[in-house]
Amino acid sequence: MNRDTNHYDVIISGGGMVGVSMATALGQANIKVAVIEPHLPILEWPRAEYDIRVSAITRATEKIFNRVGAWQKMVKMRVAPYQHMQVWDESGDGSIHFDSTDLGEPNLGHIIENSVIHKALLERLHEINDQLDSIELITPAQIIELKQHEGHVDLSLDNGRELSAKLLIAADGANSWIRDQVGITTTGWLYDQSAVVATIQSSKSHRHTAWQQFMKRGPLAFLPLNQSDLSSIVWSTSHAEAARLADLSKEEFLLELHEAFGDELGEMISVDSRGAFPLQLKHANHYCSDRVVLIGNAAHAIHPLAGQGLNLGINDVAELSKLIIKAHHAQKDWGDYALLRRYERARKGENVAVMAAMDGFKRLFSNDQPLLKTVRNIGLNLADHAGPIKNQIIRQAMGLK
Ligand SMILES: Cc1cc2nc3c(=O)[nH]c(=O)nc-3n(C[C@H](O)[C@H](O)[C@H](O)COP(=O)(O)OP(=O)(O)OC[C@H]3O[C@@H](n4cnc5c(N)ncnc54)[C@H](O)[C@@H]3O)c2cc1C
Repeated sequence: MNRDTNHYDVIISGGGMVGVSMATALGQANIKVAVIEPHLPILEWPRAEYDIRVSAITRATEKIFNRVGAWQKMVKMRVAPYQHMQVWDESGDGSIHFDSTDLGEPNLGHIIENSVIHKALLERLHEINDQLDSIELITPAQIIELKQHEGHVDLSLDNGRELSAKLLIAADGANSWIRDQVGITTTGWLYDQSAVVATIQSSKSHRHTAWQQFMKRGPLAFLPLNQSDLSSIVWSTSHAEAARLADLSKEEFLLELHEAFGDELGEMISVDSRGAFPLQLKHANHYCSDRVVLIGNAAHAIHPLAGQGLNLGINDVAELSKLIIKAHHAQKDWGDYALLRRYERARKGENVAVMAAMDGFKRLFSNDQPLLKTVRNIGLNLADHAGPIKNQIIRQAMGLK
């Protein structure tokens, strides 16, 4: 691409996992794309260390990563398929178990470190660019001015560059600057919880199982990594408790973790760094404005208790890229408001349904009310024995429908 050219078919603001996925999907269809990202992406992958941030990737997302040519790169680096999921209430009165063999599937999904996903997507972006010269990654940079016109947007960057495009895609995360600039409001709330994340070595194997225990203060998940004694935890709890847990010595933290989780994975042997993320629900009231459209966390941020946030964002990518590519090939206007509204209508239903379900689970399980506890445990046990319904639940969660 001529680097002096300041006009692109599409500009993407935000080079996170969702923004780069969109760039690869459009770039490989020979659509001229610029990605603007304020933080220089880290291309080094410290093989010896595990990223404390991981994502549970559904089969549907795997297919989309495959379609953009990034899946095999992730597999070559490090992915962990899981065949079982075990979910239970801390009282021990209710539980449900899912097994991929009941569905005739090789696995229920994969646990992948965020740095692996991001690096594979960026490698693919550079590969596409070498072949087609269709994507420019502009980093470190950020948009400081946005002007919407009838047929295009004009953008000024903090590095002095001026760009324009028929369409601006906001993939700039839950605190989207673009969303605020175009006046799209959000609905949502901060949860009274933070998620503590860390990589844990245990004395027993994880047995390729994603474990989740619902506790009064929030769920505690152990997600299996590629080594049988390593799991990544997501421990949602009150902010004060999360801060206390993060401050404990490693030995004290491991003891408390063992006490909270029980003996399924034996002793907790080691932990390195720990991180804590405040949790929120935020949904954009509209997904588009003139020549501007929102995807990923810019459109919807949800509670991570069933690991669906990134999966929803990648489904946004699949839907929007399909519409843009079709319009581009037909030489129609891919930034047309009617097209953006079609994308919004296609995606809002699933995004809102998953968000509401996660919010409902969070409230249902963070509650000590005896009657509610009894009812939810009966519900879990009934669902565990209801073969076809149970299979339907898990197929939905895997994105297989
Ligand atoms: C504890 C935890 C566990 C989770 N587990 C899972 C899971 O198992 N499965 C799952 O599917 N999801 C999970 N999620 C959700 C998932 O991490 C997010 O949905 C996903 O990271 C969103 O990606 P994104 O690219 O839309 O946004 P982000 O990851 O927030 O990326 C936004 C990008 O935009 C850039 N940016 C910021 N400001 C600007 C600006 N002004 N201009 C331009 N660029 C900007 C940022 O630098 C960043 O690169 C989890 C979330 C949490 C907190």
